[in-house]
Amino acid sequence: MSKLERFLRQCRVTKGTSFRLKDHSPGDTAHLDADKTKARALLQRDIERLAALQDKLYAQDRWAILLIFQAMDAAGKDGTIKHVMSGVNPQGCQVYSFKVPSAEDLDHDFLWRSAKCLPERGRIGVFNRSYYEEVLVVRVHPELLERQEIPPRLVTKDVWNDRYESIADFERHLARNGTLVLKFFLNVSRKEQKRRFFERLDLPDKNWKFSEADAKEREHWKEYMRAYEDMIRATATPHAPWYVVPADNKWFTHLVVGAAIIDAMENLALQYPKVDGAKKAELAAAREILEGE
Ligand code: ATP
Ligand code: MG
Repeated sequence: MSKLERFLRQCRVTKGTSFRLKDHSPGDTAHLDADKTKARALLQRDIERLAALQDKLYAQDRWAILLIFQAMDAAGKDGTIKHVMSGVNPQGCQVYSFKVPSAEDLDHDFLWRSAKCLPERGRIGVFNRSYYEEVLVVRVHPELLERQEIPPRLVTKDVWNDRYESIADFERHLARNGTLVLKFFLNVSRKEQKRRFFERLDLPDKNWKFSEADAKEREHWKEYMRAYEDMIRATATPHAPWYVVPADNKWFTHLVVGAAIIDAMENLALQYPKVDGAKKAELAAAREILEGE
């Protein structure tokens, strides 16, 4: 087993009971940093493998893949999606970024807007943030919950556990119907986030990425980490695992995410559709027509 495969096992969480965030270091690189050229070659190979797997996924048209990315600001969600998905055919991939909910969103249950964006069979859907915000930012800022127009008597002290349960049920339902759900928490350290914020302030080409709100959210770091830990404990399952991906080194984040997607897709044993007798006859007839032109 390669170092990367071994590492993948460590960062995959399929059962939350004993999960502790402090067992996962944001700076981990599985000792692969000694040979960055090799790491880059591995990522390139994985991008190509992913493209080949996606081609089969699309042709077979049975499974759908849902990739969920959650993280603190500047952890690298955008860059990871850009790099890891760079080889896939845009026709077979849809990316949705979930921002602050609209008035229409708030007029529905909290899963509604995500359900509308689920990937079709044969496609890879990427959620850049997701319904998990409903147990992260909304938990850290309870005033957001007040703004959701839920009948007050339904908002009890169990509200977060209720939401974990709804999410777990939703993902079980998706899994039962052929959607492979993989969830990535890009685990950046507070120190590295600060460094990246300074980079966004210092470099004119990165200024646009900085928002004052990002620096404000940072003040709630501890509450966010608590919310992430509880959420992973409550929603990690074998059919919808969480991957806690070290995010202080971007090249390693990309490598781990790419390897995790490939590993899970290979388990699906995707196949190009088999050509049956009738189809073979159809192909032979088409050949005859073309040859006779
Ligand atoms: P970028 O890397 O460009 O900053 P981003 O994902 O942080 O990407 P922003 O527009 O900066 O995008 O932020 C989106 C904001 O929307 C985040 O602060 C997030 O917490 C918030 N958000 C997303 N979903 C919800 C939700 N369901 N309820 C409340 N806030 C939400
Ligand atoms: Mg942001």
